Amino acid sequence: MNTEFEPVIGLEIHVQLASKTKLFCSCPNGVGEDTKPNTAICPVCTGHPGVLPVLTEGALELAVRAGLSMNCKTNEYSSFSRKHYFYPDLPKGYQITQYDEPINGAGFIEITFGPKDHLQKKRIGIHHAHLEEDASKSSHEGTYSLIDFNRAGCPLLEIVSMPDLRSPDEAYAYLTEIKRLMRWVGASNCDMEKGELRVDVNISLRPKGQEKFGTRAEIKNLNSFKAVRDALNYEINRQTEILNAGGQVKQETRLWDKEELVTKPMRSKEDALDYRYFPEPDLPPVVLEKSWLEGVKSRMPELPAAKEARFMKAGLSAYDAGVLTSSREIADYFEEVTKSGKVSLKTASNWIQTDLLGMLNAEKKEIQDSPIPAARLAELLEMTESGKINRKQAREVFDEIWKTGEAPAAVVEKRGMVQVSDEGQLEEWAQAAIAANPKAVADFKAGNKAAVGPLVGAVMKMSKGKANPRLISQLLTKLLS
Ligand code: ADP
Ligand code: MG
Ligand code: ZN
Repeated sequence: MNTEFEPVIGLEIHVQLASKTKLFCSCPNGVGEDTKPNTAICPVCTGHPGVLPVLTEGALELAVRAGLSMNCKTNEYSSFSRKHYFYPDLPKGYQITQYDEPINGAGFIEITFGPKDHLQKKRIGIHHAHLEEDASKSSHEGTYSLIDFNRAGCPLLEIVSMPDLRSPDEAYAYLTEIKRLMRWVGASNCDMEKGELRVDVNISLRPKGQEKFGTRAEIKNLNSFKAVRDALNYEINRQTEILNAGGQVKQETRLWDKEELVTKPMRSKEDALDYRYFPEPDLPPVVLEKSWLEGVKSRMPELPAAKEARFMKAGLSAYDAGVLTSSREIADYFEEVTKSGKVSLKTASNWIQTDLLGMLNAEKKEIQDSPIPAARLAELLEMTESGKINRKQAREVFDEIWKTGEAPAAVVEKRGMVQVSDEGQLEEWAQAAIAANPKAVADFKAGNKAAVGPLVGAVMKMSKGKANPRLISQLLTKLLS
C-alpha cells in the first residue's frame, strides 16, 4: 500500500557576517579568493598556543541586527563554548561557537511562495541564531594538501529554523527571505559563490495527518538554492521508497553530489561525533548593556515586511510590493521616484519592474549602478503622467538616457517629441482621419464603439506619434456622435 507522506524540513544556515574584522582578532574579514593565501592572518586566527581571543564589537552588532530582522529575542546574556574535533583546517583542535547560550533566541520570519497571482504567506519559526568562527580552507593537489587560513576565524551566524517547512518550495522561499533580510540589514552579503551562505537541510517524512515527526536525514554541503531544492526532492523520493517498502529511514548525515544529483551517506547517528562542548575559558560571557542594545535598535532600518505592507496599503498588489522590496536598494529607488507625489505608484512600479529591472538584468547590473538614477526616472515619468509625452515616446527617451546619461527633458526637446494637445491641430487631424476612413466611420455610427481605434491610429500616423492619444480618442468620439 502506498501511503501519502508529508515532508518536514528544517534548515541550518551559516551566513558570513559582513564585519570589517574577524570574530576574535583584528585581521580583515572576508578577503576572498583574489587575496594571496595566508596573508590575512595572525597568531589568534591561526590557533597559536597562548594567544587570547577578543570578541569584536562589529561582528556582535551585525549578529544582533540579523537577529532583530528575524524577530529574535536578543539575549542580554550569552556565552561561547569550545566544540572539539580534529581536522587539519582546525589547528586549535576546537571551534569557538555559542552552544547553550546563543546571542539570538527564538524568533520567526514570514515567507512568501506560490504562483504570482495567488501568493501564500507562512510564518516559519527560528529556533535560535548563534555566533561562531569559521574554519580555514584546505585544498588538495596531487599528494600535497594546502591550507589557507584567510577564512579562519571569520564570523559566522548560524541560523537554525524550527521544523516548520513542508515542501522544497517553502524551503526555497525561506532561503530567499533569509537572504533578503541579511542583506537588508547589512548583516551579510550572502554571496553564495563566495561561500557566504551555506546550507544544511534536515528532512523527514511522516504519513499525512500524523503529528509525530519521522526520522530525519541531514544533508550537508549545499551551496546553491537550486541544490537545496534538488536535494530535498531527491530525499523525498528516496525516503518515500524506503517507507513504502516497509523499511525505516536511518538517521544519518548525507552529502549532496552535485555531479550525480544524488545524496550519499556520510556518517550515521551511531558515529555521531561527541564534540565535548565546554565553556570557553578565554572569553568572558557577553553581557549587553541596555544602552548599547538601544543604540543598535535605533540604527535598524524599516524592515522589508513593514515596507511591503505600506506599499500594499498604498494600492500595490502583493506581487508588486514583493518585487519592489526584494532589496533595500530597489525599495529606496522606488520611494525616490514616487516621493514628489507626481508619479503614481503603479506607473513607477511598472516602469521599474519591466523597463528598468529588465535592462539592468540584461546588462548584469545592480540598481545602485543604474545608468538612470531615480531622480532622472522621476523626471521622465512626470512627463508621461502630465501627458507631455506618451508611453512609447517615454520608452525612446528611456533608451537614450540609458546610453547617454542626458536629462530626459533635453532628449524630449532635441527630438521635438512633445505631445500635441493643441485643440485646433488635433481637430484638423481628426477631420482628415474621418474623411479618409469611411468604413470605420460607418461602423462607429452603426454602434461599434471599438471602430474609433483605427481612426486614432490614423491620427497617430499623420502626427508621427505626436498626437495625445487620449485627447484624440475623446475628440473623435465627440465629432462622430
Ligand atoms: P542537531 O542537534 O542534530 O543539529 P537540532 O535539534 O539542532 O539537531 O535540529 C537541527 C535542525 O533539524 C533544525 O533546523 C530542526 O528544525 C530540524 N529538525 C529537527 N527534527 C526534525 C525532523 N524530525 N524532521 C526534519 N527536520 C528536523
Ligand atoms: Mg544543530
Ligand atoms: Zn587574526
